[in-house]
Amino acid sequence: MNEFIRQLPKIELHDHLDGGLRTQTVFELLQEKKNNFKIKSLEELSQYIEGNISKGSLADYLKNFELTTAVMQSYNNLKRIAYESAEDLHNENVVYAEIRFAPELHTREGLTLQEVINAVREGLIQAEEKLQIKTNIIICLIREASQEEAKEIAQLCIDNFGDKVCGFDIAGKENGNPPEKYIQIFRMLKSNNIPVTIHAGEESDYSYINAAILDCKAKRIGHGIKSANVPDKLCLDIIKQHEIHLEVCISSNIQTKVVESVELHPAKILKKKGINFSLCSDNRLMSKTNISQELKIASKELKFSKKDLVQMQKLAIKNSFATDEIKKEILEKIENFEKINRPQ
Ligand SMILES: [Zn+2]
Repeated sequence: MNEFIRQLPKIELHDHLDGGLRTQTVFELLQEKKNNFKIKSLEELSQYIEGNISKGSLADYLKNFELTTAVMQSYNNLKRIAYESAEDLHNENVVYAEIRFAPELHTREGLTLQEVINAVREGLIQAEEKLQIKTNIIICLIREASQEEAKEIAQLCIDNFGDKVCGFDIAGKENGNPPEKYIQIFRMLKSNNIPVTIHAGEESDYSYINAAILDCKAKRIGHGIKSANVPDKLCLDIIKQHEIHLEVCISSNIQTKVVESVELHPAKILKKKGINFSLCSDNRLMSKTNISQELKIASKELKFSKKDLVQMQKLAIKNSFATDEIKKEILEKIENFEKINRPQ
């Protein structure tokens, strides 16, 4: 199975740039600038990251993002990190990836929002010139943003749409920040035909998923796992009716303790109910995972078959925000793999 997963052309739809850096790169970039983290060796850095993960509180978890965003404040660093992100994905045979980040987190040392986009775009294009991978950018808005800030980020997305930027997302603390808080922004995006995915139903309840779909017109939902256990099935019906794709991140959910264990993960229920979803990594560094690892978990712990895993890649590319041309090209790669391997 592991070799099958390695060779399978894979799609990654939910991958945060600031959650997927190489530890080695974080260390090197920290050394280059005066850092407040006082980390002296690679080993110490790994222990620091691991320590924050194992403490299990959201505040500790977020300390790791303070660390990564600290080294993501210059054009060259962002470009390098974007390049390496695509290279790492390519090395596990991801053939198409949508990488997301919040530009506003990278302007602390003088970069403009547009320069942040340019840097990441340049890194990704450089990777694509060398490697067999296609990538796009999803621009995130942090949910605590004011309406004015939100409007600026949405405009940035509209201005860059089609030039590697393929969609818009809202991320960050869910509870208290329902998607409809930004209803005007979503209307603005809709009138410009910008596809939207929204983090919803990860820590919050299913009403956030309903609002993301019905009020904010999201085409995909980040996580959306709280839909699985709603007794009246209303939420799952809405997901089906509107042909919504869920970006499900098993390891991330366990790590942030929104789900107790892999065995109890709603992915099993979603599959049984015929929901359109794919598995994603969320944060490769913080959750110590990647898409291959997520597929291995699904196969081993949740009894997903080889056929299920291939089908999932097809659903992922069909529901990606790529152009029709890229969708067709990638779908052919998956179908060729399927013809040769005849998964059961
Ligand atoms: Zn996420």
